[in-house]
Amino acid sequence: MDNSAKQYKILDPDNCAMCGMCLNHCPTYKVNNNESESPRGRISIIHGLNASLLAPTESALKHLNSCTLCLACESACPAKVDFYGLITKARDKYYKKQKFLFKLKSFFISSILTNPILKRILFEFINFAQDIFLYKKFFNIKQKKYHIDAYDETVKNGDSKIGIFSGCASDIFQKNVANDCIEVLKKNNIKSELVQKVECCGSLDYNCGRIEKGLRYNNITNNEFSNGKYKKVIGYASGCSSFINRNNKSNIYEDATSFILNLLSNKIDKFKETNKNVCIHRPCTTKSAEIDFQKLLSVLETIPNLKIFTFEDNYCCGAGAQNLLHNTKNSINIIEPKIEFVKSNKIDLILTYNIGCSLNFINSININNMKRVDVMHPISFINERLK
Ligand code: SF4
Ligand code: SF4
Repeated sequence: MDNSAKQYKILDPDNCAMCGMCLNHCPTYKVNNNESESPRGRISIIHGLNASLLAPTESALKHLNSCTLCLACESACPAKVDFYGLITKARDKYYKKQKFLFKLKSFFISSILTNPILKRILFEFINFAQDIFLYKKFFNIKQKKYHIDAYDETVKNGDSKIGIFSGCASDIFQKNVANDCIEVLKKNNIKSELVQKVECCGSLDYNCGRIEKGLRYNNITNNEFSNGKYKKVIGYASGCSSFINRNNKSNIYEDATSFILNLLSNKIDKFKETNKNVCIHRPCTTKSAEIDFQKLLSVLETIPNLKIFTFEDNYCCGAGAQNLLHNTKNSINIIEPKIEFVKSNKIDLILTYNIGCSLNFINSININNMKRVDVMHPISFINERLK
């Protein structure tokens, strides 16, 4: 029996009515004004490939690769086309036909970020480069170690506790956020420790065309989360939360931003003042990670003297599905209106809970030489301001 035919039956690109209602929601269509860079164009390409009307050439596949998987098109589509399923399965099916450089970059990023030794080497290299070449803003590694004190203290105590999952890229660039999670929980008398032995939730491979490997990591992740050691596991990378919720939703896992917002939302008079201009970014993963963006705004609004902005456009920042790595120019072009907003409103600090968005902002901030603008995870900002 031909399984591939069965697999594609429920993801039939023919479900697309070609109405075009998704077009103006798509960030890649907006910057390129090219039908092939739109959801409808991509569906036509997938249809052509699956029906062997189109060869899986580099020029066809590049339009599937440039999709950021923001899924703004899915929300806008009256026919309820499963865009995530279509794109990820097409990327998987035609992965072998991708150009050499795409496969090489994907292989390296996956091999390094899912291997603790290679990840350690990359981490040390980035630290070295950061110190030697003074590219502090570019690499933006704010803390080099996890807070082992907090870890040891909780480990000694035999009670069940909250596990903190860092994710693969965040394990390099955002160790500070894990530390801040631990501290916020400590201030609320909750014991926590870092989840060990899980390098990646699986989204890294799954979203880029290696579904089998992604699912393997997803299974390891879920087994470790539900090994009985934790009453709950919280992860602070919203991309991981989105993927975990989508593939193996269980009560044991919750996004860390969501968990901490629920913890703090009924407490008053809890923050120190600051007169910063802060812009809160809403990553595309907000909905699937189940983060209540309004609740985040409400909690931050209780910080005395803080001036809060949100971006005028709701487009994806352009970093998703490794586009910052594979299609850097697209990512820079897509984020540009947000960078202009930051400039014209004299923003001091951007808050975002997605690691890819953070790196995309930092990259464009550096390109535009906006040294005074910082990028932080909301949990770190909350911890910094908590009394
Ligand atoms: S997922 Fe986002 S980038 Fe991809 S086609 Fe849809 S709207 Fe465009
Ligand atoms: S909105 Fe849906 S049905 Fe209409 S063109 Fe886009 S994907 Fe197709």
